[in-house]
Parts: sequence; C-alpha cells; structure tokens
Amino acid sequence: GKIILGDQLMERSVIGIDLEDRGYQFGDGVYEVIRVYEGKLFTMKEHIGRLYQSAKKIKITIPLAPEQMMDLVEKLVAENKVYDGSVYMQVTRGAAPRTHMFPTPESKTKPVFTAYTNEVARPGNLMKHGVKAVTAEDIRWLRCDIKSLNLLPNVLAKQEAAEAGCYEAILHRSGTVTEGSSSNVYIVNRGEVRTHPANHFILNGITRQELQKLCIENSIPFVERAFTLEDLFQADEVFITSTTSEIMPIVEIDGKTVGNGTPGQMVRMLQTLFEQRIIAESKA
Ligand code: PLP
Repeated sequence: GKIILGDQLMERSVIGIDLEDRGYQFGDGVYEVIRVYEGKLFTMKEHIGRLYQSAKKIKITIPLAPEQMMDLVEKLVAENKVYDGSVYMQVTRGAAPRTHMFPTPESKTKPVFTAYTNEVARPGNLMKHGVKAVTAEDIRWLRCDIKSLNLLPNVLAKQEAAEAGCYEAILHRSGTVTEGSSSNVYIVNRGEVRTHPANHFILNGITRQELQKLCIENSIPFVERAFTLEDLFQADEVFITSTTSEIMPIVEIDGKTVGNGTPGQMVRMLQTLFEQRIIAESKA
C-alpha cells in the first residue's frame, strides 16, 4: 500500500529513513493512532489536534498545516481502501548528526512526518466478554500527557501483562492508579464513573474525552479524581478505553475477579452509547 512521507503519498517500498533520524536514535518525536470505521476516520480532528499539541510540548514545529495533514490522511485511507483499520502517524525532530541537543537552525534539519495504514478488526468478542489485567508500577517520566515515541516503560508493562496471559497492565504510582500501558482506566461504583484527572500523569485519551461527553450527555456522573489500588480491587466495575480497544471491560485483575467476573451494567451501557457515536459519525 501507500504511505505518507512529508507532504506526499508514495509507495512504502521506496521510502528510506535516515540512520540518524532522531526518532530512531532518541525516540525524539510524537505519534498518533486514528481509528477507521467503514472507511471513515473517527475523531480525526481531535487526534491531529493532539499530535500538534504533543509536538509543541517538545518544541517540534510540524512542517505541514493541520488542514493539509487531514487532507493527506484522508487521501491515504481512500487510496489504501482501508475499511476497519487504523492510521499510524508520527513526527520526529528529523535527521542530523547524533548529539543530544536539538539540531541548530543552520543545519536546516526538518521534522519528518510519516503515516501508514493497517487493516484491524474491531475487538468485538473481547468487548463482549471482558479481558484480564495485571497491575504494575508506573515507572514512566512526569510528562505522560505527551504522546511521545519513548514507550519503553509501556512496552515492558504490556509484556508483563502478556506473559501473565493478560490484555493490559494497569499502572500505579505508589498505589495511585494512573492509566493502562496503552489505555485509560476507570472504576464504577454506585453508578458513578471515576478516572484519573487529565494532568501530566496520564495521556488524555481521545476515547476518554468522547466517553466524558457521552456521560455528560446522558447524565452519568463522570468524576475526575485519582483512586488507589484498593479502590480498584473493590470497584463494582473496571474498564479501560483506547482508540483500538474502544470501551473494554476488565473482569479480572491480578487473578482476582472484578464484581461477579462478567462485564457490568454501566460498561455495557457505555459501549452501546459509544457504538451509536461510531454509527452517527460514519454516516455523517
Ligand atoms: N494512555 C496511553 C498511555 C496510551 O498509549 C493510549 C493510547 O494508545 C491511551 C491512554 C488512550 O488514548 P486514546 O483514547 O486517544 O487512544
């Protein structure tokens, strides 16, 4: 299929990334993943908006206007005939002789923007039955609000989960739950949805923001207040959200059953509401 390099669509096989690209050597860049449902990009504006925000926070100026990027990405999805899938996009600070400090303006180094598509089925069966999780210490830096390419702690946590036969690792800082290795985490008690506030300890998920809107529209209390591991284990329901996992019930954590071990009433209702959002947007 085709990919995007800079402001052009081209064949994947012809592109070459420099050995000294700072994304490759330092993880010096940012990224996004956007879902495609039935050929249509879901919440593209929000994702591209966050990409520019993340880039700005690490002082990368994306050499493309957001409108131009949106056009390009839409073209890419159409060209590759993506049906249910995703777009991965990233911006690195560019290629320059390896040294930690930023390339000087005189070096004329340009940030490198790339994007490609994937066909990915929706996790229907998992969403219906729920998945297992483990807990793990959150050993990341203090700017988790930036969707940075540096994912080593997330990779290690996800691997721990996988080795335990689980879907996700729920991270905590000294007992305070932050988020998942690649998702946001929620508990439900007496009809109230609770999650960590959107500060520098978590990534403010686009799915999280959609969920928040759905809760407000449907008079479901959505509380942004941190909770502990103890709260997690005592919750009526636990679920996670992300672009690819959507709204995913957690039915077991560290081998202990959540609630009665099946997806609860609240998560089912939220899944239904989210499904309606997807349908509405794919028809829009
Ligand atoms: N938190 C982390 C650390 C993530 O990597 C992700 C997504 O991959 C999320 C949360 C969920 O964000 P979104 O809903 O925008 O996919």
